[in-house]
Amino acid sequence: MSPDILIIGAGAAGLLAARNLAQAGRRVTILEARPRPGGRIYSLGPEAGFSAPTEAGAEFLHGDVPLTRELLQAYGIPWHDTAGTTYEVSQGHARKAEAFLEEMPLLLSTLQQLSNDMPLANFLTEYFPGAEYAALRRQATAFAEGYDAADARRVSAFALREEWSGNGAEDSPRPEGGYAGLVQGLMRELEAAGAHLMLGTQVTLIEWQPGQVTVRSQDGRVFQAPQLLLTVPLGVWQAPEGRPGYLPLHPDLPGHRAAAQALGFGPVIKYLLEFEEPIWEQVSADIGQAMPELGFLFSDAAVPTWWSQQPSSQSLLTGWVAGPAAAHRQHLTPSELLTEALDSLAYLLQTTPAYLRQHLQAHQILNWGTDPLALGAYSYPTICAAEFRATLSAPVADTLFVAGEGVYSGPYTGTVEAALVTGAAAARRILQTPAPIS
Ligand SMILES: Cc1cc2nc3c(=O)[nH]c(=O)nc-3n(C[C@H](O)[C@H](O)[C@H](O)COP(=O)(O)OP(=O)(O)OC[C@H]3O[C@@H](n4cnc5c(N)ncnc54)[C@H](O)[C@@H]3O)c2cc1C
Repeated sequence: MSPDILIIGAGAAGLLAARNLAQAGRRVTILEARPRPGGRIYSLGPEAGFSAPTEAGAEFLHGDVPLTRELLQAYGIPWHDTAGTTYEVSQGHARKAEAFLEEMPLLLSTLQQLSNDMPLANFLTEYFPGAEYAALRRQATAFAEGYDAADARRVSAFALREEWSGNGAEDSPRPEGGYAGLVQGLMRELEAAGAHLMLGTQVTLIEWQPGQVTVRSQDGRVFQAPQLLLTVPLGVWQAPEGRPGYLPLHPDLPGHRAAAQALGFGPVIKYLLEFEEPIWEQVSADIGQAMPELGFLFSDAAVPTWWSQQPSSQSLLTGWVAGPAAAHRQHLTPSELLTEALDSLAYLLQTTPAYLRQHLQAHQILNWGTDPLALGAYSYPTICAAEFRATLSAPVADTLFVAGEGVYSGPYTGTVEAALVTGAAAARRILQTPAPIS
């Protein structure tokens, strides 16, 4: 029997929409290019050599995230606060860090007085000119680029003001066993409700007219339904014609594509390095600088941000490069990226890359900006983002619908919560349209 609706993408948005639509009695088929569900939720396990589930994509609950917590609770998955000491390394010297951004109070009070939105870079040049603010400008830029994966020349100062005023993001626990449990829970529910997931099905063309959609996949299969929900990442919407990831629509939706271009979507490189033991814990013949109980580490190394799995005992260090710094590394091979990560860690721990390499048990480096099915890691707010998100998520002729993290407006930009919320909203809108006649 043909479906009532096709959903492209089995990430958090697509899975939740599929579950809700199937539970409401719609016949749902999800088409997913990857060989696994979850999208940017990607938990690696023993098959990748890691001793515990290891997150290559989403890892933390950033803030209250009510829908995420509700689902985790429903699936019996607890979450645990991060723990450990935060360090800062500057010019080779490690010390305990007082705050992520020391000048935050001054920055925030100036942002509060801003009456017109502008990109962060313009704000910093205008309100904090001169050599005496060089450190503030550098730190604020690094914070926005590192945490939000944003380009300081495009990210909205108003949005950062909201974010930095605190939406609870300082409390960032991890789901026990990783986000994979959330994906498994949604999968169980949507399958029980009769939805079909077709993995390894990369959509290469969408042809549509009101009430009728024909979708073609890379391997020549054809799918038809009266309605379609697109949950592909913003990077896919932004991909230029002819480039990997580009998804053609006939007729095209130029207003939607222009809105996507006006939004921000930043790249991230996540370096997952598991060692035989937590070599950073104490000084030894080979480790010159120890960081006992390391939780997070911010530094002036080429790979500047690192964190452990505290309070878990897994000897994993995760390195993080985001925003323009990640974009500059898009051409680097995995082996060049590993070399850079080990060089950075060797500098931070006052050891040699050879020593680190010798004790490396498993590693994976995820360069999300070069993944053709994501073309970035997550979105960040540009000027007038809410308007552009509304345009991109506007339904077309009760036939085409759009969801996904990139069209979310609210306090949880760039998160799993954002994706889930848009999936639920799209399902509600679709259910307001008349059910197709069987
Ligand atoms: C490195 C990294 C770290 C992150 N950290 C966190 C975190 O700590 N906490 C948090 O809350 N969020 C985090 N996020 C963000 C979070 O992972 C995403 O916001 C969320 O998972 C996006 O879900 P989605 O359904 O919108 O998109 P996706 O998960 O990207 O799903 C879209 C799906 O569409 C598929 N697709 C694309 N093109 C096609 C095509 N042509 N045909 C068929 N299928 C296609 C993709 O394969 C993908 O599975 C992180 C993301 C990354 C990359």
